[in-house]
Amino acid sequence: MPSGEHPDERLGERWGAVVVGAGVAGLVAARELELAGVRTLVLDARDAPGGAVRGHEVAGLRLDAGAESFATRGGVVAGYLAELGLADGVCAPSGLGSWVHLPSGDGPLPRTGLLGIPSAPFASDVRRTLGPLGAARAALDLVLPRSVGADATTLGGLVRARMGARALDRLVRPIVGGVHAAEPDDLAVDAVAPGLTAAVARSRGSLARAVRSIRAAAPAGTAVAGLTGGVHGLVDALAEQAGEIRLRTPVSSIRRASGGLVVTTPGGEIGTERVVLAAPAPGLLDHLVGLGSTPDTGAAVTLVTVVLDAPALDAAPRGTGVLVAREADDVQAKALTHATAKWPWLAAEAGAGRHVVRLSYGRAGEDGPAPDLATALADASTLLGVPLRERDVVGHATVRWTQALPRPSAAHRDWVAAVRAALATQPDVAVAGAWVAGNGLAAVIPDARAAGRSLVPE
Ligand SMILES: Cc1cc2nc3c(=O)[nH]c(=O)nc-3n(C[C@H](O)[C@H](O)[C@H](O)COP(=O)(O)OP(=O)(O)OC[C@H]3O[C@@H](n4cnc5c(N)ncnc54)[C@H](O)[C@@H]3O)c2cc1C
Repeated sequence: MPSGEHPDERLGERWGAVVVGAGVAGLVAARELELAGVRTLVLDARDAPGGAVRGHEVAGLRLDAGAESFATRGGVVAGYLAELGLADGVCAPSGLGSWVHLPSGDGPLPRTGLLGIPSAPFASDVRRTLGPLGAARAALDLVLPRSVGADATTLGGLVRARMGARALDRLVRPIVGGVHAAEPDDLAVDAVAPGLTAAVARSRGSLARAVRSIRAAAPAGTAVAGLTGGVHGLVDALAEQAGEIRLRTPVSSIRRASGGLVVTTPGGEIGTERVVLAAPAPGLLDHLVGLGSTPDTGAAVTLVTVVLDAPALDAAPRGTGVLVAREADDVQAKALTHATAKWPWLAAEAGAGRHVVRLSYGRAGEDGPAPDLATALADASTLLGVPLRERDVVGHATVRWTQALPRPSAAHRDWVAAVRAALATQPDVAVAGAWVAGNGLAAVIPDARAAGRSLVPE
């Protein structure tokens, strides 16, 4: 069909491309299409673009409501931000360490680890958290034969075999729960730690040596970075270049009509030559491909942000934050980020004595009610070791995220491969987003870029 012709006479609107979902994936894909001259419409069910990278205002501060950093691996995200003119805003976190909260007390997390896997199992910070016996068991990794753990397919299985249960429970499980809202025994090794399996093979089976080699190959500096003003600044910049964005417009189906595709919204049907599905709603593909199963949507996560006037927190008693081990039953939160201790730009913006603390709730398999302010304050007091009272609170906000952290299990990876294979014969339809690319901006951005480009006419 020549460009500019309507795919279906009955339809009132026609676009070169429709992108379903105005999260980062949808906006990145839409920008590629727009830059190539394809008129693009982005549809989103919510009342603001950005998905899990939205911003919100709490106590007069503009804060990230979801994601607040990005992985620096490969320089992918920083490079993309530079393309958008945001290079000057890229910033490193403060460099204060983070902690794990255990029933036996709090311990530091290894500074040179990967998802909590220590590169030096007998280092003093690891000994403090695992105890001498636990650290000695973890250090056995350096001498165990390469066959130990060689058949493990999950992250949990690999760490348990090479470093023992204590390293898994006290270091890896709290971090994996915080980042992926999932259990290490449910996660495919390479889905959460790309390249780790190959590095272990090159390191004669040793997990610690493998982590060391991966860290050595990474660019100098921290594993994550942020954006001055918050990572939602990425969404603001993208939204200017991503074509027309229509909010409060949930898409209920995508189907093929004579000469094109039709997207159904509450406002009517929209004709288009191409579609990018950048929302975790695979049922929308039912008219196009027979998938016959649904992906692993992962756990719901609730974030409680509290802004406090609490000069006692100036000393950053738990560095950039605390992850909670599952066996610790004195708090309900699974993680706390002391945002003003982590991001110097935010501390400057908040002013002396004012602090931003983010608590996250919701583990794999749990779906309880959202915690109230009193629970969040009690948890923050325990985790930071500083009494925090309701009168110290200047503002707070609770945001609940569902379907926002797909679980990177082996089953999920196979399902994604099946989706991509099923779509291979339909060159006018592409998929993008964390639900297919994996969690995190470093995975989502390059994948969404490729999805957008795949639909650009020759
Ligand atoms: C609380 C939290 C903290 C995070 N922290 C970090 C971090 O620090 N660093 C990092 O790299 N990553 C982080 N992540 C992960 C990262 O934010 C996501 O991987 C990424 O933003 C996903 O982008 P996306 O566009 O694929 O999906 P989403 O952001 O989920 O966007 C999908 C969009 O699709 C829309 N939508 C859904 N269904 C429909 C429909 N039927 N019709 C129309 N629209 C629809 C939704 O409204 C949404 O706006 C975090 C995620 C969460 C939830």
